[in-house]
Amino acid sequence: AIDTMIPLQSRALWNKHKVQKFEDAEGFDDRFIHHVETTLARSLYNCDDLAAYESTSISVRDNLVIDWNKTQQRLTARDPKRVYYLSLEFLMGRALDNALINMGSEPKPNSNGDELLGTRDMVKDSLNDLGFRLEDVLAQEPDAALGNGGLGRLAACFIDSMTTENIPAWGYGLRYEYGIFAQKIIDGYQIETPDYWLNIGNRWEIERHEIQIPVTFYGYVDRPDGDTPTTDPAQWIGGERVLAVAYDFPVPGYKTTTVNNLRLWKAKPTTEFDFAKFNTGDYKNSVDQQQRAESITACLYPNDNFAEGKELRLKQQYFWCAASLHDIIRRFKKTQRPWSEFPDQVAIQLNDTHPTLAVVELQRVLVDLEKLPWAEAWDIVNKTFAYTNHTVMQEALEKWPVSLFSRLLPRHLEIIYDINWFFLQEVEKKFPDNSELLSRISIIEEVYPERLIRMAFLAIVGSHKVNGVAELHSELIKTTIFSDFVKFYGPSKFTNVTNGITPRRWLKQANPELSKLISEAINDPKDDFLLDMTKLTKLAEFADDHGFQQRWNKVKEDNKIKLADLIKNLNNGEDIIDREHINNTLFDIQVKRIHEYKRQQMNIFGVIYRYLAIKNLLEQGASIEEVEKKFPRKVSIFGGKSAPGYYMAKLIIKLINSVADVVNSDVAIADLIKVVFIPDYNVSKAEIIIPASDLSEHISTAGTEASGTSNMKFVMNGGLIIGTVDGANVEITREIGEDNIFLFGNLSEKVEELRYNHKYRKSEMPSELKMVLNAIESGLFSPENPNEFKPLWDSIKHHGDYYLVSDDFASYLATQELVDQVFHYEKSEWIKKCILSVANVGFFSSDRCIEEYAETIWNVEPVKPE
Ligand code: PLP
Repeated sequence: AIDTMIPLQSRALWNKHKVQKFEDAEGFDDRFIHHVETTLARSLYNCDDLAAYESTSISVRDNLVIDWNKTQQRLTARDPKRVYYLSLEFLMGRALDNALINMGSEPKPNSNGDELLGTRDMVKDSLNDLGFRLEDVLAQEPDAALGNGGLGRLAACFIDSMTTENIPAWGYGLRYEYGIFAQKIIDGYQIETPDYWLNIGNRWEIERHEIQIPVTFYGYVDRPDGDTPTTDPAQWIGGERVLAVAYDFPVPGYKTTTVNNLRLWKAKPTTEFDFAKFNTGDYKNSVDQQQRAESITACLYPNDNFAEGKELRLKQQYFWCAASLHDIIRRFKKTQRPWSEFPDQVAIQLNDTHPTLAVVELQRVLVDLEKLPWAEAWDIVNKTFAYTNHTVMQEALEKWPVSLFSRLLPRHLEIIYDINWFFLQEVEKKFPDNSELLSRISIIEEVYPERLIRMAFLAIVGSHKVNGVAELHSELIKTTIFSDFVKFYGPSKFTNVTNGITPRRWLKQANPELSKLISEAINDPKDDFLLDMTKLTKLAEFADDHGFQQRWNKVKEDNKIKLADLIKNLNNGEDIIDREHINNTLFDIQVKRIHEYKRQQMNIFGVIYRYLAIKNLLEQGASIEEVEKKFPRKVSIFGGKSAPGYYMAKLIIKLINSVADVVNSDVAIADLIKVVFIPDYNVSKAEIIIPASDLSEHISTAGTEASGTSNMKFVMNGGLIIGTVDGANVEITREIGEDNIFLFGNLSEKVEELRYNHKYRKSEMPSELKMVLNAIESGLFSPENPNEFKPLWDSIKHHGDYYLVSDDFASYLATQELVDQVFHYEKSEWIKKCILSVANVGFFSSDRCIEEYAETIWNVEPVKPE
């Protein structure tokens, strides 16, 4: 039975006034105007688009909160096992449009009774009647950009799918005041400006003043009985205390009334006062110190696939883990079950190693506070946690100095040492007298001048399952960075769950026209395919249908026009893209974080090669028409942020912009090539860019991209891929067929040998790349400073070409040539490939991922609404 504070005799009154959801246009209008006039204190005389956005959001949120409450009550009553997804990043983007799509119950007749409308269309019509355009209203919302890229967006797709699948799930993260920085391009250079996304408040969050959890740092460990072992209960007397305040974001699912919760923590000062300081008259200083508490959740660290190792970052991690665990434990304790049942009620998924401290914190709570024996506690911990690895790249693997831990988290350090001690004992038992193995596998790396804690190793030891995010990647972690652990634990602890994306946002919301065409073609008027993507296979029947191909192509063309409009807007109204030829201009897109391993440099070198080749032909007297036959029209579109301290990535951005300046203003090439860098790539821009692609580039050095998720988004939106045999590209090929993807380049098995060759032997550089590098060195793209891009060519010519651009460049160009051929001369074949790709993309729905996690890792069941 659910406890309630309300006396029995009062409940009838509560039930009589039960808050109702709006169900129709009338209901929405009513709620909308109510919120304009009361919550916003405005009226019809001063309700602008922003006020309309706010009022619509609050009205929609009301509905979600009603279902949110019901979901939580249902779960409290049934008390099933819950999943807690711990992620330091949730790259949510905008909430309103997604909520309108997801929360829609069955479509209802419109006011004339002549059409069935889903919630989104109903609200659209209502807003229209009230004097607003839905598009303008939606555009008011700032992106919730609390993430860097793939990892954060994955977490966002996962909570969408967990809710859609009625899995009892909570997301836990941090409520950064500043999300990922906004990128400006000034003179071709990336400039970072703060993203104060809360500037206009946030209508989606519910601040929980009543949930304030104290979190401590620094201090010392107290042992009442002198020198008892560290595995016995001890008391940590913290030196600094802050409070974690909960902010809740309701997460709607598609075609379900389940609404899950994303709980983000904000740090704030305690109300305790440092009287010692106060008494010495240092009032100002004592307030300042309190103020610093807020810095813990001020800012998202803007690195993707790179561990920076700053003290504040570790503080963020502990703050978040401690608060989240406290909350999870409080919820568990309400049921009065014994501790042994904790793993039957709680599954905690670690999204990368960022939340690994939760493993240590749970062990601390169980041993120090709950007084469980060490081994019993450790058994509970181990059964509770599972860890997702996202990378094999050394620079991205978190390692924290022991000295930092001993200052910031002294008790946790002791516990880590003990975890390691017990672990190494087991290793020693299984593999006696192998000191090399012990030092390789130890959680502590003994390096001069500073010992380091290997967080990935701690996560493995503390978890019952470890998964990679695509088949190739999951195999790679077993044979490289974690091979010793496979030897010790056996292979069954390691598994694969290939990433996925939510088709609600990335198909229905981002590409409403394609979604509509699909639902018509497969005769699925209620869009059930968004829940069961195997229904898409029916599309294959239309792959050769000329009329259908034309409709398909028209959708693509319209989406390309929308992207051209966005680019025009970003370019102060100047059109870069030739509208007249938009249908036969190939949109070649690479949008993702800028990283040497993702090889945007290879893409722009390819553009330079094309430009030089065109110029050569023209110089030899060829006409533009003749040149166009060999190098048909193409727009190369780039977007993505570099980490602020990543020099080479920033230089790549500058090179792209410099090439754009030269190529776009060269009238001699008559618009055959255009180069565009779209500033400030984020989720909202992705929703416009991805549906407009003919071809997208996923060209990482083999073995470096764990999965990639934008590759799946591009395919789901009817674009083809040029890519390396890396990450999820491999499985995309398996699903859609090798005829429908343009693969090239060396395989991951060859990478080590190729790197060795660069280091110790002479490797030959292809002539095309020589030509490109010569042009850059000549100052063609930086006449004032011919050496500007020296580090880029040096990295290839003199520093071992770690990312193997010279090894893959020739096959990259050859494959691009094939792309041109099919797009321009076999258009019907091209469209057929696109249709077949979408028909077989179903595997990459994040619903499938969540089912796999639920079954093979979490052991949780859905709890469906009655
Ligand atoms: N950034 C944003 C805004 C995204 O929407 C995505 C989507 O997948 C990514 C980054 C990840 O891209 P990729 O998988 O190409 O690294």
